[in-house]
Amino acid sequence: MTHRTVLVINSGSSSIKYQLVDPDTGEALASGLVERIGEGRGSLTHNYDGKKVTEDDPVPNHGAGLRRVIELCNEVGPNLSEAGIVAVGHRVVQGGAYFDSATVIDDDVVERITELIPLGPLHNPANLKGIEVARELLPDVPHVAVFDTAFFRGLPKAAATYALDREIARKYQIRRYGAHGTSHQFVSRLVSDHLGRNDLKQIVLHLGNGASASAVVAGHAVDTSMGLTPLEGLVMGTRTGDIDPAVVFHLRRVAGFEIDKIDDIFNKRSGLKGLCGHNDMREVQAAADAGDPEAVLALEVYAHRLRKYIGAYAAVMGGLDVLTFTAGVGENDHRIRSAACEGLEFLGITLDPVRNETRVAGPHRISADDSRVTVLVVPTNEELAIARQCLEVI
Ligand code: ADP
Repeated sequence: MTHRTVLVINSGSSSIKYQLVDPDTGEALASGLVERIGEGRGSLTHNYDGKKVTEDDPVPNHGAGLRRVIELCNEVGPNLSEAGIVAVGHRVVQGGAYFDSATVIDDDVVERITELIPLGPLHNPANLKGIEVARELLPDVPHVAVFDTAFFRGLPKAAATYALDREIARKYQIRRYGAHGTSHQFVSRLVSDHLGRNDLKQIVLHLGNGASASAVVAGHAVDTSMGLTPLEGLVMGTRTGDIDPAVVFHLRRVAGFEIDKIDDIFNKRSGLKGLCGHNDMREVQAAADAGDPEAVLALEVYAHRLRKYIGAYAAVMGGLDVLTFTAGVGENDHRIRSAACEGLEFLGITLDPVRNETRVAGPHRISADDSRVTVLVVPTNEELAIARQCLEVI
């Protein structure tokens, strides 16, 4: 094999996603997912060359999970010593004020990411575990950290600053860091390339299980909906998104809930799931179709929030050229796309219903010919984006 590849690792609290990517063609040569790490019954899926291997043995920790993945590569393929791996790319959620781009990992970088745990308590510890284990198992290639926050490191101060007591904000590094930056950067660049213009005012809506919006002018992010953590902004699968912070005080004082419990409710038991019991958009749509009023309301709250952000970001940028939908919901759900654009003709947004409902593999336009704003669906590919960023720094 002569091609070069990057192994991309996304290590979460109880899961590891991996993909062996050819950064030149974008092809995924192998991929897989280890889930339920540390639980009684684990789950592992490994895909290579049209073969799919699944296992459900317990996976006691991240080290054991990654070791099993490497064994499977040797048993089923691809042979890692012949796979042309030039780097291992690690997704890291919180890069704080330190990291404005992908960075080759050494002990200092590990220490910095560790220092940032208080700002990314739900994600950085798991990201670090992946880094630690992978460096041990694959010691001969450079490991690169690709930060979810990096694209937003240069947000204008007016957008990044919370109106909070300045001493406290400074002391505890409280500002809007954003997240999903790798996807917003990848998609907004693809849009520029696709339309052959680098001066665009863009809104990107990344609607997956997590969801976020960004405003991008001429390739630079000028606002984003996720904040200190990925909790702020749009309605998500299980997260509240925007909510009056006084709800926290209220639940503490009136209901007597501990802070960790409130954290859990806001991050894991709210959003679509909190509103109607389902966090998967396909299930929410099915429940709404069957007449469940809670699912209908969940969809209304979800779409209302989207329209609000589209209007807000058009105002922030003083105009809008392109609106792009991406990620699981954004790429697949035409009903959400049309609900998000409903009533926005005054902003120059007019969808073409047939284009909107037609499935196309690559980037495609769903706005009407006479729509002043171009509306696109663009598939994101975070693994490829991470792989390409790795190549830029090694
Ligand atoms: P993640 O944030 O986990 O990376 P994805 O971008 O893969 O998420 O998006 C996952 C979500 O996409 C699922 O929870 C599901 O709600 C939604 N989704 C996937 N396919 C469809 C579809 N055909 N219609 C509506 N929603 C979909």
